[in-house]
Amino acid sequence: ISEKFVHLNTEHVGFSLEFSPAKTTQGMQNLYDRIERMAAYGPAFIDITWGAGGSHSNLTTEMVATAQADFGLDTMMHLICTGMEQGKFEAALQESYNAGCQNILALRGDPPRDKEKWEATDGGFKYAVDLVRYIRKKYGDYFDICVAGYPEGHPECSTASESIQHLKDKVDAGANFIITQMFYDVDNYIDWVQKCRAAGISCPIIPGIMPIQSWDAFLRRAKWMNATIPKHFLDELEPVKDDDAQVRERGTKLMVQMCQRLIETGTVHLHFYTMNLEKATKMILEGLGLLQQGDTCTNKPPLPWQRSLTL
Ligand code: FAD
Repeated sequence: ISEKFVHLNTEHVGFSLEFSPAKTTQGMQNLYDRIERMAAYGPAFIDITWGAGGSHSNLTTEMVATAQADFGLDTMMHLICTGMEQGKFEAALQESYNAGCQNILALRGDPPRDKEKWEATDGGFKYAVDLVRYIRKKYGDYFDICVAGYPEGHPECSTASESIQHLKDKVDAGANFIITQMFYDVDNYIDWVQKCRAAGISCPIIPGIMPIQSWDAFLRRAKWMNATIPKHFLDELEPVKDDDAQVRERGTKLMVQMCQRLIETGTVHLHFYTMNLEKATKMILEGLGLLQQGDTCTNKPPLPWQRSLTL
């Protein structure tokens, strides 16, 4: 970690943590323990993913309610269109409302595993923008709505400008802020944000940060999410690829440097894809001087969509 970085003022920087429902009862218990521990790090909010077709959706809504009521965390619930007919949206939104959760990440979703192409469900929505419109129509301004952005494009969209136009449509339909797909190429991200701004997207854009846990997971996720891997990442990580601890150590250094650049260029909020794991995210937060413990975490920065962002 560079000398310069240690002196970077990160007091104004907030962060959030993404979790997904676990598959077993024991897994859920472990996850709740982990979320409770990580709540003490001082996230501005946490968010809970939604499984394709509403699989584990009861766990998503249960986790949202538990995080709000038992851990006192501001929570955002993901909601997707894959395999969902109208009635399911209403039920999910009502549960979120009842739990006191006021933040929804409105998504289209990926195709189910056994299908190559995405298809709308009868009586459901075709694009995330339709879900944004639905939430706004039904609930007015009760929910803050987040949507997904793709600095390296979305695989189903052939041009960058079309992809940005579709993002703008979601914002114009009522979304308050954007969280991006994971990426490692910061120059491309900064360029993409500038293109979004030039296209008239003025809401907060929050970079999605994927910690590096192991060599295989690093390569697999980058491929799956369409993320370009800069050469210096490969140069650092490949020589130690068989040693998970070393990969995590070096990966942390790379991610800290990446976040440092984002902060230097105006980012005031980082969103971490924890993949339900604690260590790698904690190491990055420590490296950035963002890890709070005990009393200090009452000093939370405001929610990102209530701030004016420069990037
Ligand atoms: P949309 O914005 O609807 O876009 C889908 C595609 O359609 C894009 O190619 C877009 O350019 C194109 N498009 C949009 N509007 C139009 C139009 N009018 N005409 C033609 N083309 C159009 N998936 C899950 O299943 N569960 C989750 O919890 C989840 N969480 C996520 C969190 C984040 C932060 C991100 C970035 C992604 C997440 N995903 C999740 C994955 C997401 O569901 C997929 O990336 C999905 O393929 C696209 O979703 P979207 O909301 O961006 O779709």
